[in-house]
Amino acid sequence: MLDFFNPVRILSGGGCFKYFDGFAAFGKRCLIVCGAKSARLSGALSDAEEGLCAAGIEYSVFDRAEQNPLLETVFEGGREAREQRADFVIGIGGGSPLDAAKAVAAFAACPVASPEEIFTAERPPALPVLAVNTTAGTGSEVTPYSILTVRSIENKRNLGGEDLFPKIAFCDPAYTMSLPPGFTMSTAVDALCHAVEGYFMKKATLTSDALAEKAMPLLAEGIREAAAACGEGSAIRYETRKKLLYASTLAGMVISRTGTGFVHSTGYMLTYHDGVPHGAANAYFLADFVAEMAKAAPKRAETALRLCGVPDFEGIHALVSSCAAMPLNLKLDESALRRYASKTVTAKNVANAVEEIGEETLLAILRKRVGGGG
Ligand code: NAP
Ligand code: FE
Repeated sequence: MLDFFNPVRILSGGGCFKYFDGFAAFGKRCLIVCGAKSARLSGALSDAEEGLCAAGIEYSVFDRAEQNPLLETVFEGGREAREQRADFVIGIGGGSPLDAAKAVAAFAACPVASPEEIFTAERPPALPVLAVNTTAGTGSEVTPYSILTVRSIENKRNLGGEDLFPKIAFCDPAYTMSLPPGFTMSTAVDALCHAVEGYFMKKATLTSDALAEKAMPLLAEGIREAAAACGEGSAIRYETRKKLLYASTLAGMVISRTGTGFVHSTGYMLTYHDGVPHGAANAYFLADFVAEMAKAAPKRAETALRLCGVPDFEGIHALVSSCAAMPLNLKLDESALRRYASKTVTAKNVANAVEEIGEETLLAILRKRVGGGG
């Protein structure tokens, strides 16, 4: 079956953003949404400022997008966009600032009285968003999702909508060169999770499968190269970063169609409660996910292992835990494990997979990977 919709113009390669001259098509005023450091460190912010100035576009910078962006922060950003009368938003960063940019664009167009209302409001279309990657992982540049941290539910929540697909994704690997080894690894593993999880979702199609099958070996290769560079204490090469960025965008296109599985919903617990970066949080559970999915889809599981270049399920765990810069050494006590299992098992990601797992299975996986804490 074919059913695929990904209305994002993707521009990739060196200089694709620096030399972009089409800003004027999006309006006269722009709000740039970014984190505290990465947009400046990567060079993308100064490229944006030069490009906007050259096009005669007024802009201001909202640089308060934190990791795992908070609902309250993006609500503030929306207010700022309205005050500036922004016509469009440029998000610069990893998944956090890109997701923040989408939510800011949604709030800007929909002035709800309190942040939580955005999830249930009849929203007019968000302002147009242009997405500039500085990490290679989340695929947010090609997805209609904005994943926000919501304190009242002690979890993340997706603000989704077709209007949240960025208009253009700018994928220049040069902007990822300054990403430290630990985040390079966690973002690469996140992308691998997207490709693999998407491969086992009920909504997978021929198109999403083709993208996942292309992305998996590239990501596995990129992860091995990045881990080897970290092991030697050398810099991660441009060619490796280029491969990771290209493949992470493909994997983002996969989940834009399929959604993600229990790896992500369980990972959210580790991020929210234990501060584990998103990709590292997912890494703990990927091998067990494939093992569970193999019960319903053994041929697919075999293909996934082959495409990742590993002999068995534990080979997946060895691959994603192969880098000292991203140690997987979290240990939780039994009460936390039980809480996470009971909260995660009700997530719709769990029901969306070809093999639906129960709470006891999830608890056993949690015990195996992150148990043993006092
Ligand atoms: P991130 O949270 O955006 O960034 C992680 C850290 O890396 C931050 O400290 C950031 O600094 C820094 N950084 C980013 N780029 C850098 C660069 N080029 N040089 C130096 N430092 C850099 O990490 P992420 O893994 O890309 O995004 C995770 C978020 O994406 C999570 O909230 C997750 O839920 C979400 N996500 C969204 C989707 C989707 O489809 N929308 C899919 C998967 C995950 P700054 O703080 O200064 O930026
Ligand atoms: Fe993810």
